[in-house]
Amino acid sequence: MARLKTTIPPSGHNILIVDDDTTLVATLEQLLTQEGHQIYTANNGPEALQLCAQCEIHLILLDYFMPGMTGEDVIRELRLSNNQTQVMLQTGYSSDKPPRQMLRELDIQAYHDKSEGPEKLLVLIDGALKTYRHERALRISRDGLQYILEATPQLHRLQPLEDLMQGVLLQIQGLLGFSGAFVATISSSTKLEPDALGGLVATTQNDNIEIRVATGRFSNKTWHDIETLERDLVWQSLQSGKVKIDSVLALPLTFGSQVIGVVLVDCQLAPSADVALLEIFASQAAVAIENTKLYELATIDDLTRLAVRRHWSYLTENILHLSCRHAQPVSFLMLDIDHFKRLNDNYGHMAGDAVLKALGQLLTMQLRKSDLIGRYGGEEIIITLPHTDHQAALITAEKIRTAIESLSLGWQASQIRFSSSIGVCSLELTDWEHWSKLTVTHLRDLLIARADQALYAAKQAGRNRVVGKVIELAQLELV
Ligand code: GH3
Ligand code: MG
Ligand code: MG
Repeated sequence: MARLKTTIPPSGHNILIVDDDTTLVATLEQLLTQEGHQIYTANNGPEALQLCAQCEIHLILLDYFMPGMTGEDVIRELRLSNNQTQVMLQTGYSSDKPPRQMLRELDIQAYHDKSEGPEKLLVLIDGALKTYRHERALRISRDGLQYILEATPQLHRLQPLEDLMQGVLLQIQGLLGFSGAFVATISSSTKLEPDALGGLVATTQNDNIEIRVATGRFSNKTWHDIETLERDLVWQSLQSGKVKIDSVLALPLTFGSQVIGVVLVDCQLAPSADVALLEIFASQAAVAIENTKLYELATIDDLTRLAVRRHWSYLTENILHLSCRHAQPVSFLMLDIDHFKRLNDNYGHMAGDAVLKALGQLLTMQLRKSDLIGRYGGEEIIITLPHTDHQAALITAEKIRTAIESLSLGWQASQIRFSSSIGVCSLELTDWEHWSKLTVTHLRDLLIARADQALYAAKQAGRNRVVGKVIELAQLELV
């Protein structure tokens, strides 16, 4: 009579049966296959060790007495490189050593007397596999914590907020592995309305959620491009401060009692151990983000988004240190808006502020990332150009001057246009030995003073122009 073929759900476990008795191997293979296990077989020690090296074996049923290598020999050899596979030693004879002594002496998890029958064997196997799963979960947690510990200094490094958030995504990618993710933050004006949940994606409050950095399928997407379900999940996570898992995972970035943002990760399923690790990582990331915000508050000018003078000064000293060590030229540009007072008088102070903001954006776009732009005073900007000689600095200054002159800023019914004067000062490679004898503070002040003189000369000569100054060795004594 034909039997109905039942499919056994896979257990997810790989078991290796090692015995020189081929009939016993076949019987055990049949028994354990019915339990849903993936079975590997070997008839001697070397073959077993080779399989362990090639495949991920969770449990070995290992015969004690075998020709050539005994079960004991196999265990000692295996443990030189593998302490994860569970081992159950089997014997059909009473061996020299009692079972408890073998358990103590050898790194094995169970001992089975072949005469005890299949039921006892299955109980022992279930126990050994349970131990394997627990050990694996502990290992994953330990590795994950290790990963977080190693990633943490990277998070707390002083860096721009956007770079930090990008780093947060990359670190979570390292922890979980995924294809797409983003970090969303809420602007401080957002009020979380409890009853806004559900239909809230259509409400205006969502305008205050901003995607800051994104990878994979979320790249270059705005909040409104995100699917409804995903937006709901982010919102729920923001409100509850809890991890939300659906087809994606929303991880809140919690700082004290405040949720400052959410990371959304393309991840089908996260085992609970992973979620606990992610929460630890998220709290580290949230602290780093808050610290970076404080750091930006102290170092970045709110209006122009340029470095404040003190911060510019500090970073410039580092640039000068490097220039001296590597004998590289360096240039300073001192820029001042022409007739800015008149502009303020004509259009109002708010228009003046808008001009300063636009100027900050223009300079950030026009210059290299390695150039350092600072707000020196009211409408005076100072720029450090590392690795730049006088000729190149003059070209850069002229490029900026032209860009400013061409800018037309819409303000209410008018178009505001303005010009700038720029003083350029450079330390050239000649006489470098002498420069490097000065302190960097001295060098910095010398460059500022000379760039300021050049700026004054540009104003005197009629404004909207660039004037350059190379510092001569002979001038050294004057400072
Ligand atoms: P010059 O061409 O000689 O540089 O003329 P100027 O009018 O630009 O020079 P001055 O230094 O006399 O004027 C600078 C003005 O900049 C005075 C001040 O009110 C204005 N200012 C400084 N900081 C700010 C700011 O943050 N916002 C606005 N709107 N104006 C500012
Ligand atoms: Mg001015
Ligand atoms: Mg001025």
